Amino acid sequence: MRQLDELKFLWNYAFEQRQRAWKLKKESIGYCTQCKSLIEWRSNDCGGIGPVYSHVVQECLHRLDRAFKSFFMKIARYPHFKSEVTSLTYPDAYNGSVAVYDGRNGTKRLHLSKIGDVPIQYDRQLPDGRMKTCTVKREGDRWYAVLTVDVADIPMFAVARPYNPVGVDLGLGSIAAMSTGKTVRAPKFFRRSERSLRRAQRKLSRKVKGSNRWKRQKVVVGRCHAKVKGQRRDFAHKLTTGWANAHDLIAFEDMDVRPLGMGMHAKSIHDAGWGILRQMCAYKMQRSGGAYVEVKTAGTTQECSKCGRSADPPLTLGDRFYRCLCGHAEDRDVNASRNILRRALEGVRQGMPELTRVERVANTSPSGRRAVSVKREPPAAKEVAF
Ligand SMILES: [Zn+2]
Repeated sequence: MRQLDELKFLWNYAFEQRQRAWKLKKESIGYCTQCKSLIEWRSNDCGGIGPVYSHVVQECLHRLDRAFKSFFMKIARYPHFKSEVTSLTYPDAYNGSVAVYDGRNGTKRLHLSKIGDVPIQYDRQLPDGRMKTCTVKREGDRWYAVLTVDVADIPMFAVARPYNPVGVDLGLGSIAAMSTGKTVRAPKFFRRSERSLRRAQRKLSRKVKGSNRWKRQKVVVGRCHAKVKGQRRDFAHKLTTGWANAHDLIAFEDMDVRPLGMGMHAKSIHDAGWGILRQMCAYKMQRSGGAYVEVKTAGTTQECSKCGRSADPPLTLGDRFYRCLCGHAEDRDVNASRNILRRALEGVRQGMPELTRVERVANTSPSGRRAVSVKREPPAAKEVAF
């Protein structure tokens, strides 16, 4: 799409402008200054940036501004020149720049200002409410429109007495070990399609850059990535919906995944999708009126979930079983998930005076008694509770 190319030029130009101003004058240019110079840019480049909707153009500068801010806050790397831009955002879709309407023969159409009307397919029904933003993005050879809609607030319930709480320990071998004793085997979607991806990328590298064959092969590579992404999301949705339906409190470790994602197991960690699981759980629990809790990580693996004693000598990464002097022996991840749940309930207890019921429920649950024989990796189909 030509508009994406124009935004690429704009990004690179604005990025260079910021760099040059700093190098020559030690001056930092902000979003507002760049927006002012945008007027001049637009008048000089009527054929280029002119046909792009003005708020979309401003949003592009906003993205650059956010990229710089994230860098200065040390949560992202330094921004860079872009070889392609794959998405554009209408920041105020409610003003008529974006509209969804019924076309002929029951089809749906999306109106985008300065682009036109395009046929679309819903992947789910649009909720009632005011449309806020619309992001059009390209993944491989497919186009998506992501609409955000302002809906009425979901009433928040404070979970006074969690009847069926669960602690979840995220891992690599089994993606999740739960305090109920269940483990969910990691599906490893990326690892599975790594071979076909490698083959597709090798083919791409042998083609002349920019040629038609190169372009076609690039679409194939894009499809491979999109497939893995789709599989990962689908799996995470099914898993978290099952959890949210079955439990009224879910506790996770409060860990920062980002540094881990740069280390030795980066590929596996990205493939496991820890971040996405927690994110989905958080909003699904809110929607179902449950509670989502994150507890401090320190010591959850090394502590005995039965007597609270620390492992001596400490467990190494290779030790898959936790054996305590008190006789408690369990899969190390399940043991950790029980510690996570205990800490979460302690936290909830501090916020409320009476929690006897929770303690009773937690102690008399079947998982509380079954401590010794936990299979390490039973078949995946039986593990996932939907
Ligand atoms: Zn013990």
